[in-house]
Amino acid sequence: MSRIKARDTGPELIVRSALHGLGLRFRVHTPLPGHPDVTLRKWTTVVFVHGCFWHRHLKCQYAYKPKSRVAFWRAKFQANIARDVFVRQKLTSLGWRIVVVWECQTKDLNRLVASLSKQFPREHAAKQIHCRTIS
Ligand SMILES: [Zn+2]
Repeated sequence: MSRIKARDTGPELIVRSALHGLGLRFRVHTPLPGHPDVTLRKWTTVVFVHGCFWHRHLKCQYAYKPKSRVAFWRAKFQANIARDVFVRQKLTSLGWRIVVVWECQTKDLNRLVASLSKQFPREHAAKQIHCRTIS
């Protein structure tokens, strides 16, 4: 069941620099189930940068269906999707939150940064919320 995984691909680097720009600290390629692209331990969150074609991004132009070797591709895609579900369940059961960034979302850096900043609210904001809750 070994799989060759592209490391440090373009979209992955874009996501990393977006996270870095938000002042977030993270690790890459930690030995967790599914080998998440980025791990933010402090947020108990992992980030996967998914290729739209391989991971079948719904309603995405890049997740087109090849016209030849249809059965081969169908089996391949089903296996990928099944693996994603398995990995997601495994990580969730370990207490990790999962953020998926689709490759097509890395083409617009401003939008990417905006949506990532919602996933990781600024720390001072988080503290204020926390204080309000406990007081
Ligand atoms: Zn997509």
